[in-house]
Amino acid sequence: MKKYILTVVALVCFLSGWGQETKPRITIIATGGTIAGIAHTPAENAYTPAQLTVETLIRQIPQITHKASVQGLQLCNIASQHMTPGIWVRLASVVDSLFSGDHCDGVVVTHGTDTMEETAFFLDLVNTHENPVVFTGSMRPSNSPGADGPANLYNAVCLAADPAAGAKGVLVVMNEYIFSASGVTKTHTVNPQAFENPDHGPLGTIRGGNAVFYHPCHERPLPEKRFSIAELVYQDLPRVDIVLSYAGATSLLFDTLVENGTEGIVIAGVGHGNYSRQIENSAKKAVRQGIAVVRATRVLKGGVSSDTENTFEGQVVSRSLSPQKARILLMLALTVFREPAEIQHLFDQYP
Ligand code: GLU
Repeated sequence: MKKYILTVVALVCFLSGWGQETKPRITIIATGGTIAGIAHTPAENAYTPAQLTVETLIRQIPQITHKASVQGLQLCNIASQHMTPGIWVRLASVVDSLFSGDHCDGVVVTHGTDTMEETAFFLDLVNTHENPVVFTGSMRPSNSPGADGPANLYNAVCLAADPAAGAKGVLVVMNEYIFSASGVTKTHTVNPQAFENPDHGPLGTIRGGNAVFYHPCHERPLPEKRFSIAELVYQDLPRVDIVLSYAGATSLLFDTLVENGTEGIVIAGVGHGNYSRQIENSAKKAVRQGIAVVRATRVLKGGVSSDTENTFEGQVVSRSLSPQKARILLMLALTVFREPAEIQHLFDQYP
């Protein structure tokens, strides 16, 4: 009888997982980039990105089994200059299904560094789950001396496995620093210390696989507006373009975009978001035609507010969002709103 009771207790314990260490379940979604790249010869600069599969990336960090139970998912394998809004939507749907079905506790996305900040920000705007989502990549290909991919991936999984990373919006981890998706930008073309938040700095750092978040006041409240990924799956996102301002810029590019059916234009202005008289005349005309115009800046720090030059009724200002992120918010905004005041309200969430 005693033997029978012990057997039943052992079976119940086994089935319930009692006594076993349960580690956070992390799904790594791989999209390509340099982290999956291979140098033509290890000493050469030239390399081809997006060569390794997610399984190979996971094999490069065997130590991770102490921190998390990891599974891989290959979404695509591309250099991130080829990223598209269609792939953003697919990624967001996959992340939504993973969390809705309780298939994992956290997600890591590996991505080329060139447009990582754009995909991360798009996901930040449409993800409604509080589970950690962390982007990472690398600046050096996988077989180069001092390849930074494995360390970045290890840190990203550790962060995604840490409950403290939940409800902070989508995060980016590069070179041991943690950033918010809305503030981070690539600021170096080749160096492993390539990512910064120029105005606010990093949210924290990773030491020995442990996340250290700096002062809570560095964290912005999450934006109140989230866009429904379920609805975005069935439509193409509105076309929004970026026009760069510079000394001597004419309105040729701006006018050409309007003639070719753009639904919104972000002006990457000089200084506090300024642009030439010619562009101003075209921008006013476009707003009268119902095309959304957002004034942003090509300058890295300070953002754009409305109390300055080049202000006119109906124009939206980007606040702290860079032109490439203002474009993404405007694309999503135009799926729901048309009134400049409503669109401005969304941008005001990024003071
Ligand atoms: N241009 C490539 C990409 O963004 C390589 C850059 C990188 O990943 O660091 O995927």
